[in-house]
Order: sequence, then C-alpha cells, then structure tokens
Amino acid sequence: MSTIALPTYEDVQAAARRIEGHAHRTPVMTSRTVNEAFEADVFFKCENLQRMGAFKFRGAFNALSKFSEAQRKAGVVAFSSGNHAQAVALSARLLGIPATILMPLDAPAAKMDATRGYGGRVVTYDRYTEDREQIGQDLAREHGLTLIPPYDHEDVIAGQGTAVKELFEEAGELDALFVPLGGGGLLSGSALSTRALAPGCKLYGVEPEAGNDGQRSFRSGEIVHIDTPQTIADGAQTQHLGLLTFAIIRRDVDDILTARDEELTACMRFLAERMKLVVEPTGCLGFAAARSMKQQLRGKRIGVLVSGGNVDIDRFGALMRNA
Ligand SMILES: *Cc1c(COP(=O)(O)O)cnc(C)c1O
Repeated sequence: MSTIALPTYEDVQAAARRIEGHAHRTPVMTSRTVNEAFEADVFFKCENLQRMGAFKFRGAFNALSKFSEAQRKAGVVAFSSGNHAQAVALSARLLGIPATILMPLDAPAAKMDATRGYGGRVVTYDRYTEDREQIGQDLAREHGLTLIPPYDHEDVIAGQGTAVKELFEEAGELDALFVPLGGGGLLSGSALSTRALAPGCKLYGVEPEAGNDGQRSFRSGEIVHIDTPQTIADGAQTQHLGLLTFAIIRRDVDDILTARDEELTACMRFLAERMKLVVEPTGCLGFAAARSMKQQLRGKRIGVLVSGGNVDIDRFGALMRNA
C-alpha cells in the first residue's frame, strides 16, 4: 500500500487557532431526563448552534484561511447542495475571497438563497446529465480557482476535528463518543482529537442504515461505493468514504454503527421537546445509535456529537407529524 500523508492532531490544534474568534465555541449541553434514562452522563456537543448551522464551517474556514495571496485573489470553488456549500460561501465572505458554488438545478430554493445570501456565486448544473466534479475541475482550471472538497482534504479534516477537541476540553474524559458519518471528514477529524486527548475512549461513527457503505468499508478493509441512498439524513447521503478519511477511520475508530430513519425522527422530536434543540435528521445519527446501546452504556460518560440543525421548518413539521 502506498503511504499517504495523513493530517495529525497538531493540524487540529493549528486549525483551532485559525478558527478562534471566527467559529463559535458551541455549547456542551446535558439533560437530566437523558441521564436518568441512560443511567449515565451524556454530553451533547451542539454543532447545530455553529455558524451557518453545522460543524462544516470549521473545516471550510480552516481550509480557506490557509490560501496564499494568489489563491485568495482567484477564488474558491465547491460543489454541494448542502451544508458544505454554505460553509464555503460564508468562510469566503469573511475572508474576502470570491466563492463559486456548484449546485444541482433542482436544489431547494432555500439552500440556493442561503448560499447567495452568504455572498456565493451559484452555478447550476443538471445532476442527471452533467458531472459536477468535471465541471468543478474545469472551472478551477479555467479561472485558477481552488477546489475545496467537502471531506477528503487534510485542512477540512483538521478543522472538523476541533469540535471534539472542545468537547473533551469541556467534558473531560469520556468512555464512548458517537459521531455522525457521511464522507468521514467529521469522524476522521474527531478521531485525531480523541486518540490525542482520550486514548481509551471508544469512538463510533454512525451512518444511515440505508447507506451503510462506511460500515461495509470499515469491516472489509476496502472503500465500498454505493448508489445515493434513500434516507432522510441528507447530510450523510454520500456514496463512499475518501482516501484520507478512510485511512484515519480504519486506524482510529472502534466501529461503525447505523441508525434507521424512524430512530432519527424520534430523536429529533426528543431533542426539540426536551432540550429545545432544532436538529436536522443527519445531526441525530450519534444520539440514535447511543440510544440503541443504552444497556451497555450504563454508568459511563458518553459524548454525542450533534452535527447540524439545517432543516427547513416546514419539513421539520412534516417529519414531526409522523414521528
Ligand atoms: C456533512 C454533514 C455530516 C457528515 O459529515 P462528513 O464529514 O461528510 O462525514 C453530518 N452531519 C451534518 C449536519 C453534515 O452537514
């Protein structure tokens, strides 16, 4: 196997210094009801309260902060219909960098508007006939833009790792930590912080049951590719892990678990009713997996990463009516 240079915890520490004063240090919340139900101490790291509504601001801001003068002038390009687009657009605006965001023609109007609202130039493509990676690369080459991918990039991974660094600094040692998993930027960054700050802590990635490519990759040792899975967890509809994220996850993560859509809506309802937190379906993956392992977690100290809160309020209502 060829060796690829993987980011380290030192990169997470450097990222933490870069984002300080720009990203929120999000609250770590507890709930008596949850602790009683679990007979354990549960600490929620609330990245739904991060700027633009998800942890992705951390990685994007860290990556863009490292641009050279020439890169800053030319600008950044990203493709995403979700939180990464908004994270890049907002970070670019704060750093005075022009941003081009590629979004599918049929992306929700609210997401396009949010991206434009953060100052991003939206370029649309037809997701059924056009290849967004190709368009992104063409734009990057023609205009000298720097492409920032949503997860498989060392600066993105290091930035995402700062959330769990803050969690350990605030909550102290934990016995187990549950982190949502899509392409693995958040989980691999979390792994760097966990192995540095709490080597004995069990670390679990959690993905939608309908799209368990991460679990299959972890268990088989090869990156498994799948079709876009059908799930309400739209932040984790990725088709495969990245080369960097997979290498770190294999080395540092204890297991990959899954959660069903019904479990996610039940968690959304609980977090809204009991903790007054608006969390998007993907943001509930960690909590859902912890709930189904409750018996084994009795008496322990548990971390749950709540990764984002960007859910259209009408969709939130519709999901809650059926939960
Ligand atoms: C992107 C995203 C994830 C998954 O993160 P990866 O780094 O792709 O694994 C989880 N939750 C939310 C809210 C996201 O936006």
